[in-house]
Amino acid sequence: MAIEDIRKIGVIGAGQMGNGIAHVCALAGYEVALMDVAQASLDRARKTVEKNLQRQVSRERITEDEMTAALNRIVPSTSTDAAGDCDFVIESATEDESVKRKIFEEVCPKLSENAILATNTSSISITRLGASTDRPGRFLGMHFMNPVPVMELVELIRGLATEEEVFNSVRELAARLGKTVAVSEDFPAFMVNRILLPMINEAVYVLYEGVGNVKSIDTAMKLGANHPMGPLELADFIGLDTCLAVMQVLYEGLADSKYRPCPLLVKYVEAGWLGRKKGRGFYDYSTDVPVPTR
Ligand code: NAD
Repeated sequence: MAIEDIRKIGVIGAGQMGNGIAHVCALAGYEVALMDVAQASLDRARKTVEKNLQRQVSRERITEDEMTAALNRIVPSTSTDAAGDCDFVIESATEDESVKRKIFEEVCPKLSENAILATNTSSISITRLGASTDRPGRFLGMHFMNPVPVMELVELIRGLATEEEVFNSVRELAARLGKTVAVSEDFPAFMVNRILLPMINEAVYVLYEGVGNVKSIDTAMKLGANHPMGPLELADFIGLDTCLAVMQVLYEGLADSKYRPCPLLVKYVEAGWLGRKKGRGFYDYSTDVPVPTR
């Protein structure tokens, strides 16, 4: 499929990442079908996209008309039937292989024969996910960064079976969305998260062992390593469930104890303290200024 043939884009999963992907696709002029099993996620996504587009208007990056047009191009749906007339579909649901496999099983028979299917997974094997679909040749990894409208990078990952023409069309699509591509081989967590998540996990160990508290660890890395966000603040921003899922994929996929998820990270996830999206993680977000929880 040539890039010109991509007119309508389906996004499955309307969470933190899905709403951002819908935002950049709609702003680039694509019709977008935004799908999620939870109506609440779709409602939240709509509000988030509107707020973020409004911010771009107030910074004079886009006009009021461009904002309205982009919002009107996003059609929410609780059914994957909406993927039926999409030329490109990206799955961005929860980082759980069984969830993703179920989605592919459900959506593949509804897709047009030529449609390209991508996943925004942070860590799971593209080759294995592709093999679970009816189109491993038209399947690839397109890994956006959070927050999608702001972050310039997209990692592109070929599965073993990904066709070159498909890969090139998606590379061109990324450029049309204003993104810069870094190509990664299909290994657990690819490049960015292979490097980033062990650092976050180590920060949780530093907290767990009492070497520092939440505030001192984040201050240390912001002022000592010039990171714009501290590692625990960043973990909350990513979502602690996603962080844990990525560490588990690294640990199991590379069979190396250096990737062992910190037990404290496991505990936070078990408590449902998943970070910003739940209002509590390493920080409590119920007040204007987030308060460290340890
Ligand atoms: P999230 O928890 O904010 O959103 C996940 C969404 O998936 C929810 O709205 C949920 O209702 C929906 N969902 C669950 N099961 C579904 C199904 N069967 N069909 C349709 N929708 C379903 O998670 P997120 O942070 O947006 O992450 C989504 C994906 O993006 C994951 O694969 C994650 O690894 C990846 N990712 C996350 C980040 C990050 O920083 N959070 C960055 C890059 C990539």
